[in-house]
Amino acid sequence: MPGDRNDAGVRVLHPAAAVGFAALYLAFALLSREAPGAGFDSVARPAGGIAVLWLLLRQTKALGVDTLALAVVAYAANSVTGADPDAAALIAATNVLQSVLATVLLRRWCLTLWGCGGTRPLDRPRVLAPYCAALVVALAVGAIVATLGMSAIEGVDETAEGVLWFGRNLCSALVLVTFGLLLGQRLTSPRPRPRLLGDAGPVELLAATAFTLTMYGVAFTLEETPLAFVLLAATVWFGLRFSTMLSATHSLVIGMATLSLTVNGVGPFAAVEREDLGYLVAQFYVVAISVTALILSTARDEREALAAELRRSKEEAVYESSVRDAVIGSITEGLIVVDESGELLIQNDAAATLLGDGARPLTSESRHVMSSWSVDGVALDDSQRPTARALRGETVHAAEVMIRVEGRPDRVLSISGIPLPRDEIRDRSRALMIFRDVTDEHAHRQELSMFAGVVAHDLRNPLAAIDGWTEMIADELDAGRLDPQTAREFVSRVRSSSGRMRELIRDLLAHATSGSRDLDMSRLDVAAMAEEIASTRHAEKNVACEAIPPVLADAVLVRQVLDNLVGNALKYVAPGIEPEVTVRGWRSGTRMVTIQVADNGIGIPAGERERIFEEFHRAHYRDYEGSGLGLSIVRRIVTRHDGTIVARANPAGVGSLFELTLPAYDEQDPHPKG
Ligand code: ADP
Repeated sequence: MPGDRNDAGVRVLHPAAAVGFAALYLAFALLSREAPGAGFDSVARPAGGIAVLWLLLRQTKALGVDTLALAVVAYAANSVTGADPDAAALIAATNVLQSVLATVLLRRWCLTLWGCGGTRPLDRPRVLAPYCAALVVALAVGAIVATLGMSAIEGVDETAEGVLWFGRNLCSALVLVTFGLLLGQRLTSPRPRPRLLGDAGPVELLAATAFTLTMYGVAFTLEETPLAFVLLAATVWFGLRFSTMLSATHSLVIGMATLSLTVNGVGPFAAVEREDLGYLVAQFYVVAISVTALILSTARDEREALAAELRRSKEEAVYESSVRDAVIGSITEGLIVVDESGELLIQNDAAATLLGDGARPLTSESRHVMSSWSVDGVALDDSQRPTARALRGETVHAAEVMIRVEGRPDRVLSISGIPLPRDEIRDRSRALMIFRDVTDEHAHRQELSMFAGVVAHDLRNPLAAIDGWTEMIADELDAGRLDPQTAREFVSRVRSSSGRMRELIRDLLAHATSGSRDLDMSRLDVAAMAEEIASTRHAEKNVACEAIPPVLADAVLVRQVLDNLVGNALKYVAPGIEPEVTVRGWRSGTRMVTIQVADNGIGIPAGERERIFEEFHRAHYRDYEGSGLGLSIVRRIVTRHDGTIVARANPAGVGSLFELTLPAYDEQDPHPKG
């Protein structure tokens, strides 16, 4: 509907609507002009309902232009319908008074209602009482004022006419204002709008209409038989099955038909001996069916709205829980919610993997096969466990705890705990716990700090030596005793120390890059590579290379592996022994090539054959220089190629043998996937 908004943001009808209402008011007044008892005691006054609707929808102030217009139109209408000037003025004034009062009361008592300051339709029984009360009070005040005024003007008691005045105004207001407000709300509310047919379908609407027509036909034809009570059944049908809008329309049509037939002397109400009593009964009949229809249909509307709300809430709850499950299930951190009795309320798959055996979901009993330790290896008592702390109300942030579960390797978990609102029904505290596996991170950190310690130590030694020798050079120079022979010897020691440092730094760099460098796989001839390494080291006559099937590997990294192994084989020989190194290889299984590097050196003590692959571990640190990093680099590179490496005693008798595997290069399928 076109219009502006007033201060309260409520839509106000366009001023042209006032002209429409005035015309409607006048038309209704003139229509009822010919009706018996027109004027103060006419039987039907639809204009009364129009006046209330007019002031309500135009949001008129008590002394607004619309009120004034209403007064003029009401005066004109009553003059035309035969009232003398005094009576016409009184009726017009009373009309304005009751309409303004009804408007004020409705806006005050039915704030949420569309047209009265709100947006809701008349669809709940609880607004019916204040709604009807506002109309009844306003129209009763109007009727009393009109009765007293008319009695004064006419000089006779006009109480009976006053009751009729009240009856017809209430009748018209209840039917017209209700219909007008419902229609206005429906037209202005956003789609989708509630179903006009309510619970029923079009067939039932046809049946109910046919029933109404038949019943009214019968009741108004057999007017001697008081059949009006049967008519109520039609109202109940509409009230129970159709929307308030349709039910109010039904009341409007029935009400108008009943009143016009009664005025024209047709039907059971016209059959009442005293004509005015008959009118009165007809008016109150219309009031009764309107109110009944409203009570039933607003209750139905409310039920329908509640059911829809319930359906929506259920759907939302189901959706929210599916989203929650999806979110909880998809996070890689383990998540559980527990209460203080140990009952497990929520868990995700990751929690079962981290805390349980990984195969089955956790149960409340899972905690009994699990023990918690500090990362330094001290057993935590129950009260120190992060879960117990969170259940006591403490927020735990990333506590590192070592978890032992029977039959599984120890794991270090980073555990956070958040206290949740208490379960008031069962009187238990609850907590949300989040777990992350930091075993590797923890091991890596440990390794890193050890690594840093060793690096610092190994770099400090040659540095101290350099310091010492250079200081001695300076002292000798100061004393003027430095002969070239001594100087040469000191400088050579300084260079040897700085050489050791350079070697260590080179190995450190190789160690760092061997794990992170992207693999660039290609076909490699390992034997040719070993020969080339031997020649670079001027040891061609010490290294014998047999033919090796081609491998698919990273050339730079494999070169590093061979250089380390051949270098060690040449280095770790007893003094005076000529090194003899053999490099050989063969295809093993379908996918791998096994490569051996054997020597005639000093060998590796049996207990050291695994440990020599650890960073900085050296089996012979006395007489041989080295950083202890070479074999750890070798194992890291081989592992990255999905291969293995072991050290053994050389079965030939003396020396050691290193055996490693690398992926075979397949001529048929040179670029295997995965
Ligand atoms: P580095 O040679 O720098 O000490 P590596 O990691 O290459 O460090 O080797 C670790 C240890 O393994 C060496 O210190 C040495 O004791 C032992 N080792 C490696 N290769 C051989 C070999 N061919 N024969 C005997 N011992 C070896």
